[in-house]
Amino acid sequence: MKVFEALKWASSCLKEAQRDENAGEMLLLHHLGMTRTYLLASLQEEVPTEIMQKFQHDVKKHVAGIPVQYLIGSEEFYGRTFQVNQEVLIPRPETEELVLGLIDRMKQKFGHAPIQAVDIGTGSGAIGVTLALEVPTIKMTCTDIAEESLAVAKENAKRLGAKVQFLHGDLLKPFIEASQRFDVVVSNPPYIPDSDELSTVVKDYEPNRALFGGQDGLNFYRRFMEELPLVINKQGIIAFEVGFGQADAVSDMLKKQFPNAKVEVVFDINGKDRMVF
Ligand code: GLN
Repeated sequence: MKVFEALKWASSCLKEAQRDENAGEMLLLHHLGMTRTYLLASLQEEVPTEIMQKFQHDVKKHVAGIPVQYLIGSEEFYGRTFQVNQEVLIPRPETEELVLGLIDRMKQKFGHAPIQAVDIGTGSGAIGVTLALEVPTIKMTCTDIAEESLAVAKENAKRLGAKVQFLHGDLLKPFIEASQRFDVVVSNPPYIPDSDELSTVVKDYEPNRALFGGQDGLNFYRRFMEELPLVINKQGIIAFEVGFGQADAVSDMLKKQFPNAKVEVVFDINGKDRMVF
């Protein structure tokens, strides 16, 4: 089969299964190890048989529901390629907005001063590794409750050349025990209400421990409120990603716990409340 025929075959399979038709191109690029520009210049070339087999196999897996990012093993985040596997959530564009908003606020607040920061529940390391690479004065720590996720985050830090300290642990407990404090605490915790109907693609393939946050989805924020006062420095910044419709509840919790703090709710580019600083 020629490249253009392979792409046509994939998009008709994907269309029929109501999956993203662009997935075919992403998978073929991955298996051919080509850039998009090169692929477009090679439409009349033959796809080698063994590559065609792998490609068809992956298209079928995507038709069955496995996200393309898990099939190709990576996702772009903040201009860099992060490795992912089924132990970690696939980084989302909304979370890029959280990082951007946090970097702006850190610049305003800390200027060029050294910053001690921690990313709780780092998953693939998208937030923490990006901060370590973008903010020269940061001393970054990333934690996760799952060793399997930490392995992915460590690999990403290594590949991308980020200096990050990794720690296995449950929320802020390790730092409370060590009396360690931070200028910045950032987290995209699991926030989906247990009862929510998620698309089967998300629920069946992404790790449920990274998605669900109890009956109303707010369990992790409640735990944060108890633990944060012991860990955050007085002039510090707390940055949370939240689920659509949760920002008011989370900002109320923060106001109650930190009556003198400035609490800001920020909407994402889709107009949904998504971040609380
Ligand atoms: N944004 C993810 C989703 O909607 C959920 C991420 C999370 O729970 N923190 O699928």
